[in-house]
Amino acid sequence: MRIDCKRVWEHISAYIEGEVDAELRAEIDRHLETCEVCCAVLDSTRNVVVLVADERVFELPAGFSERLHARLDTELALTGS
Ligand SMILES: [Zn+2]
Repeated sequence: MRIDCKRVWEHISAYIEGEVDAELRAEIDRHLETCEVCCAVLDSTRNVVVLVADERVFELPAGFSERLHARLDTELALTGS
């Protein structure tokens, strides 16, 4: 089973929180090794999750490119989540 970027993004929060099953986690790990986009999304999402958990003001992490953010927004809008 190979997964694409969109699938990684759908599960990124659960991945960070350790709520994905072992098989999916392995697939995401494998994808992240070769995909710079998803690595950036993972880093940014992890920061956002931490910020939300701490109830701090939402702020995009440094280095999170606007273009990447726009792409992620678009993809998430398309999936309805
Ligand atoms: Zn990717």
